[in-house]
Amino acid sequence: MARVYNWQIGREMSYWYPESRPQKQFAAVFDINKCIACQTCTVACKTTWTSGRGQEYMLWNNVESKPYGCYPLAWDLKLLDMLNGQEWTGNRYDGQTIFESAPAGERALGWRPETQDYAYPNVGEDDCSGQVNGGASFSMPHMNWFFYLARICNHCTYPSCLSSCPRSSIYKRPEDGIVLVDQGRCRGYQECVRACPYKKVFFNPMTGTSEKCIACFPKIEQGIQPQCFVNCIGKIRMAGWISKPENARADNPIDYLVHIKKVALPLFPQFGLEPNVYYIPPIHVPTSFTRQLFGPGVDEAIRTYRNAPNDRDLAGLLCLLGSSEMMMPRWKRQGDTVMGLDEKGVELVRVPMNEPVHIRPAFDRLYQVQRTNCP
Ligand code: SF4
Ligand code: SF4
Repeated sequence: MARVYNWQIGREMSYWYPESRPQKQFAAVFDINKCIACQTCTVACKTTWTSGRGQEYMLWNNVESKPYGCYPLAWDLKLLDMLNGQEWTGNRYDGQTIFESAPAGERALGWRPETQDYAYPNVGEDDCSGQVNGGASFSMPHMNWFFYLARICNHCTYPSCLSSCPRSSIYKRPEDGIVLVDQGRCRGYQECVRACPYKKVFFNPMTGTSEKCIACFPKIEQGIQPQCFVNCIGKIRMAGWISKPENARADNPIDYLVHIKKVALPLFPQFGLEPNVYYIPPIHVPTSFTRQLFGPGVDEAIRTYRNAPNDRDLAGLLCLLGSSEMMMPRWKRQGDTVMGLDEKGVELVRVPMNEPVHIRPAFDRLYQVQRTNCP
């Protein structure tokens, strides 16, 4: 095992290979507060990449309702149980990662789902948790919170799928950090399926190989965001490039949200993979729950997000999510207008922070009809 630095847990940790960061690292921010669970992202991915034989139950992108939803079944609960709790001191994780708690002879702590575990991707959908304490308009017991968690492969900095493969079939591209399975080398041992804590590698029984999200790399190579991003109805997503914390740039939208504002957080940082999909946590959920998912930065992230109406830059940047199909590696705000830019500062898209409101008369004289929806 090598010693590598993982900034998300604030310390060095053990990993199978030495630290080797790509020239650029693909990353994404998802604003959970805007997701409506329409599953358009899921379908966009499914129809693009996984409509073949053996891929029937394979969802590289899925959206589950937390706290009870999970695909595959219990993907998170089982591993949390195996890890046996977590300990943070401030922003430093003092518990064990999945690499540090690997049983003798294995490279990561993990488990392999049964085929049946993939059969219920919408289990727990819209099931609520908690009780309304007061102010409810009726007196029946009424659960009051849940939220939607959209998930893709995290294209981790320290991927356990990659480190656990005995054939070295999984590789991380040096040019963009995207993690891929070499279909020619894979022999279907499924060590990656067992080792990925997010369960984002899938076994295809028809080909006998493992398959996973490829971050739509043919699109990214043309400067276009992946399918699940550009089709997102809720405009919750932005794809881009993340720097190491010490190299963060304020004009890089991902750096700004993750490193500078610290409003977007990794999913289960305690697992130790340095995942590169970052979530703006839901603001209406007890933080005792979201702290386990997103780490100790949750309370501060929610305070920052709630303050966005008083923070013009943050509010402006949030308006850029879902505004263009192009990757926007740079951004800037001028007054009430926010712009997505390419690497050279050329404008790709321009978005007003305040949309004008048009109110039409209730009666349409042209068609001589009463309108039911005036604004
Ligand atoms: S999320 Fe899983 S499949 Fe994706 S890179 Fe990380 S370990 Fe590999
Ligand atoms: S398309 Fe967007 S809003 Fe709809 S479920 Fe997917 S992430 Fe959520």
